[in-house]
This record gives sequence, C-alpha cells and structure tokens, in this order.
Amino acid sequence: TQPLAELDPEISAVLDKELARQRGTLEMIASENFVPRAVLEAVGSVLTNKYAEGYPGRRYYGGCEEVDVAESLAIERAKALFGSEFANVQPHSGASANAAVLHAIARPGDTILGLSLDHGGHLTHGMKINFSGRLYNVVAYGVDENTSLVDMDEVRRLAVEHQPKVIIAGWSAYPRQLDFAKFREIADEVGATLWVDMAHFAGLVAAGLHPSPVPHAHVVSSTVHKTIGGPRSGFILTNDADIAKKLNSAVFPGQQGGPLMHVIAGKAVAFKLAATDDFKDRQARTLSGAKLLAERLLQDDVKNAGITLRSNGTDVHLVLVDLRDAAIDGKQAEDLLHQVGITVNRNSVPNDPRPPMVTSGLRIGTPALATRGFGDEEFREVADVIALALLPNPDIESLRARTKALADKFPLYEGLEQW
Ligand code: PLP
Repeated sequence: TQPLAELDPEISAVLDKELARQRGTLEMIASENFVPRAVLEAVGSVLTNKYAEGYPGRRYYGGCEEVDVAESLAIERAKALFGSEFANVQPHSGASANAAVLHAIARPGDTILGLSLDHGGHLTHGMKINFSGRLYNVVAYGVDENTSLVDMDEVRRLAVEHQPKVIIAGWSAYPRQLDFAKFREIADEVGATLWVDMAHFAGLVAAGLHPSPVPHAHVVSSTVHKTIGGPRSGFILTNDADIAKKLNSAVFPGQQGGPLMHVIAGKAVAFKLAATDDFKDRQARTLSGAKLLAERLLQDDVKNAGITLRSNGTDVHLVLVDLRDAAIDGKQAEDLLHQVGITVNRNSVPNDPRPPMVTSGLRIGTPALATRGFGDEEFREVADVIALALLPNPDIESLRARTKALADKFPLYEGLEQW
C-alpha cells in the first residue's frame, strides 16, 4: 500500500518529469499519441496481477471470470469497429502481432514480399536482422525515385518473379494511401496470402477517413497506440475462419504466454472510444493538420533551403521531410526542433546517403497534437514554427515561446498530479 513516491522516489521522479515533459512540449512523433485517463486507469489496474493463458471461456488458469469479460469486450468492439469476422486482441505489441501473423500464414524459409525498411517499411516486414529477415526469404519492393510512391507494376513484377507465400502491404513512413484492391489482385494472381499491417493508419480507418484493408486482405495486423491512441499493444483481424484458427494458436501458445489483461482492458476502452463522433473529429483534425503542415513546408522559403517533402504532400497523418539537398541532416533537424520544444524523429529517406543514426529525413506526425485538441489554427502555427526552425539562423528563443504558448493552450491530463 506504500505509494510510489515513498517506496521508490527515483522512479517516481521519472514519472513526474515525464509528465512535465509531455505537458510542456509538442509531441509530433508520428507513431505516438496520448491515451485518455480511462486507459491509464485500466492499464494501471489490478488486472496486471492475473494470469489468463488461453482465450475467453477456454483458459488454463482459474479465476478468469472477470478478465474474460474484458477480453470478450475488446474482441467484440474490435470486430465491430473494423467490420471483421474475427479478432485476436492478445498481442503485446505491433511486432508480436506481426510475428504471430507470419507464424500463422508462412513457414520458415518461405518467401515474403514487403516494403523495404529504408523506403518506409517496418522492421517486421523483412529487415535483415529482425526475426522476419532471419526466418523468411525476403524480397523487398521500394518506392519510385521520382514520385516516392509504391509502384504497383513493380510489386506485380517481383511477385510474379519470386512467387512469394506472403505479400505485405503496410508502412511506418509513407505519406500516401496504398491500393489494397490492387495488392489483393496481385496476391490472387500468384497464390499469395495478403497481409496488411495498418499499425499507423488504423485510427483513420476506424473513423472512415482512410480506405479499409479489411475487405481486401486475408489478414490485417495493427497497433493500438498510434492513430487509435490506445495502450501500447497490438491486435489482428481476419474474415477467414481457417486463418483465424491458425492466428489464435500462433499468438498463444505460438508466440506468447500469459496475455497482458490490464492492457487488453485498456484496448477495450480505446475501441469503445474509437466508435464515437469525438474520435472521428479528432482523426479529421489529424488529417487536416498534416495537410496544413505539408502546405507550409512546400512554400518557397523552405524550398529555397533545399528542403522538400516526399511525394509533395500527404493523405495521412504524417509528412516526410527530405533533407538530402539541405544544409542540415536529419539528426541536426531533430535536435533543432527539440530545442524549440517540438519532438519528432529523424528518418532515412530512400537511397539515403547518410547512416541510419544521422539520416537525411524527418517524419512529422499530427495524431498526438490532434488528441491534445489542436485544430487548423494551431496546426498552422506549429507548421510555421517548424518551417522557421529548419531555415538558416533560426531564432530559437522566440520559436520556443510560440510552442510553449501552444502547449499552455491545451493542458494535458488536467487535474492529474502524478502518473
Ligand atoms: N508495424 C508497423 C507498420 C509499425 O510502424 C510499427 C511500429 O513502429 C509496428 C508494426 C510495431 O509496433 P511495436 O513497436 O508496438 O512493436
């Protein structure tokens, strides 16, 4: 019963300082968000104490009657939200969801075809030293050098040539929408299973502001903590009963032991919220904010500094800044924005001449600020601050004052003294 601040002041200080950091800065890492207080409560609850190997009604432990309710709610809400027949809500993270997907639909040694990491794909889509690259024979497609778009003729050419068992559509850094119907057509042509990883854009899909992969893909995986804004975790959907069975056994006992029931309860809460009008409004502001950011970064003063945007704009919640012709590299740009109170991450661009710890790009996203309450006016203001910070000789002091004013305008976790 001893409070954290008394029992472990060092860790307590980390929590306090992290809350202050989140309150005082503008979070623009495209994969981050703020969970609502209700999710913090679920995730910080006594459900963390419970072992529940198995699935609702079929557990390997006693005393699961309450957590069964939480997991069943999470499953039913996920299915309703995305219009799928089946959902597994147990993956601890996006990466463990993806490991389970591959475990269910492929065997080690099989060929998988996915977007390469340096063109915007994810580690789990076949990166060399990730489990996906070590266990499977990876063939990668990229984006077109001129348009920065996935070239579906190239995907088809590689699929026909390599006859993959699995085709992966999905990304971590790509500012446009993918053509899921075309991916399915190619998968059917070569007899492959189509897996869509919607980790990044799932919130947009839930709000009806992005095409859904569910009608096209054999299997869809996702995280809950990016655009959806729920607890850090993953889930998997399918409409295929046979794949559903394989997925359940791939998650448990294939990949995981006991599910994180506190996090599953948090997922149920997040899925409930994702079906509301407020959530739709937030996703609309997310998209509008990204468009305004792109508009500002395409203006002449930025262009004249050698800074461009991949694909010249965005249809989603992020923009990709290309610094290959700029005076600053990705690391310097990330540091400059940090100094003015904006958190982003540097990101490799295709054919990046700089190493991955430096890079020539930035990924900037709007989901967390939209959750905080930002609308067009505030997104215009933060876009201008970003543009001016990246231009030569930025006035750091005055830009920091502008981000502080924005942060103060939208207090975060008001009333919470400690979490
Ligand atoms: N899939 C995609 C497309 C992602 O962008 C990410 C996270 O960055 C993941 C999967 C993995 O999620 P996690 O970090 O929860 O393992």
